[in-house]
Amino acid sequence: MKKRNTVLLLGIISIIILTSVQVLIIRGIWKQKNEMFSLKYTMGSQEALYFINRRLSTDGFDTVRFVLSKYSEQANKELRRINDTALLNQKKKEVFDFFNYSLNKEQDLSELLASYFERRGLEKKFTYSIVINDIDLITDDTVAIFHRYGTSGRPRGVRERIEASDFSKSQILVNWFGMEDNYYRLRFEYFIDFSDKQKLILKESAVFLAMSLFSIIVVVTIFIIAYRNLMEEKRLSNLKTDFINNMTHELKTPLSTITVAGKTLEMPQVRTNQEKILETARMIGKQSVHLNQLINMILEISMWERTQFELDKRNIDIGELMNDVVESFRAGGGNNATINKKYNLDGLKAELDVVYFTTMINNLLSNAVKYSVKEPVIDVEGFHNENAIYIRISDNGIGISKTDQKHIFDKFYRASTGNIHKFKGLGLGLYYVKRIAEAHGGDVSVSSKPGKGSTFTISIPY
Ligand code: ADP
Repeated sequence: MKKRNTVLLLGIISIIILTSVQVLIIRGIWKQKNEMFSLKYTMGSQEALYFINRRLSTDGFDTVRFVLSKYSEQANKELRRINDTALLNQKKKEVFDFFNYSLNKEQDLSELLASYFERRGLEKKFTYSIVINDIDLITDDTVAIFHRYGTSGRPRGVRERIEASDFSKSQILVNWFGMEDNYYRLRFEYFIDFSDKQKLILKESAVFLAMSLFSIIVVVTIFIIAYRNLMEEKRLSNLKTDFINNMTHELKTPLSTITVAGKTLEMPQVRTNQEKILETARMIGKQSVHLNQLINMILEISMWERTQFELDKRNIDIGELMNDVVESFRAGGGNNATINKKYNLDGLKAELDVVYFTTMINNLLSNAVKYSVKEPVIDVEGFHNENAIYIRISDNGIGISKTDQKHIFDKFYRASTGNIHKFKGLGLGLYYVKRIAEAHGGDVSVSSKPGKGSTFTISIPY
């Protein structure tokens, strides 16, 4: 139990470490890809600007320049006429809004950039933003309309910020622009932002993501398999220990009877009593047979382990054979049981090894008697379809729980550990049944309800 917990704990810790390392690596890759993305588009937009300037002889703001020049001339005149500070500030705000509106509305740069990106095979879906830094209206004197970072060093102007613009991390600065003519001076920045950026980076990092996910899955799977193997080995070793205990127990009973019988024979009063001698000799004989059976069973099993055992198959009328087996069982150990027979086998013949087949049915019948706390009532049925013959043996015994049902055909397995010594056995009977059924090309299945009884069905193809 302690070992199991340690293994589990170590496994979980290693998986956590592995996953954390993978997460760190992926984060690093993600960050790098992010930077590379920004770099690629910064460089791309620089190239684009160069191309637009040189080849198309524009900076994308020609219309804006014209509109603003006209507007500034007029605005300048109006501004100079205003004396009231509140009105002046309101007018300045109006001027700012107009500049902002025109820059966004009349610019052609975004379209030019998009078509350049498209031609270069880059992503062309982006949003842009224009951030105004300074606006000054000029005549013989300068009127500062808006200075984002203050007007220190300048002779006159407004210090407050009229509007703050949000800078998002994913924005890529394309360029600073400066425009100046007789009536105004303007400086602004032009940014682009890719809304699909995360998706594009994800696409590029997909291979790494898949690889690290795959490696985690592989490690977890290997761990689960190894852990389950370990548990299975532990279970088998427990079963073996149980088996050895049971076997010792089983072997000891006939052995001690024989020892006692030997001692009895040595007694002078017994030696003269012919009847007693005969009785003791019979007892020794009976116990030796039992002992022999047990040893043969163990020997046979180890033989089965090593080689595929061979059946001596003959074409047998299965109904007749079943009758013989059941009747001799009734005459032998099962005489206190009620056995109901119902065969519907139409004289069908199958390739069977009589000895093994008899052992198989006997094992099921003796279990039906053994695992019963009341008068055993056993139904033995035989039926068939076009492929197989079925033998079904049902009892009214103690039944088998769902969990035990999964293991009862395993070697050495014995159900209900609490009762293990109440019902004697080595945990080999059903293992035999399964091996024999399979050697005949068939199988065996169980259905059972604890307290109600069990039904075993053997199928044999014919
Ligand atoms: P054994 O009888 O020697 O223990 P088996 O392989 O014949 O070994 O059976 C395995 C286990 O299956 C038994 O320990 C018992 O708990 C359960 N079992 C088998 N047959 C029956 C039955 N007819 N009714 C209830 N339990 C059964």
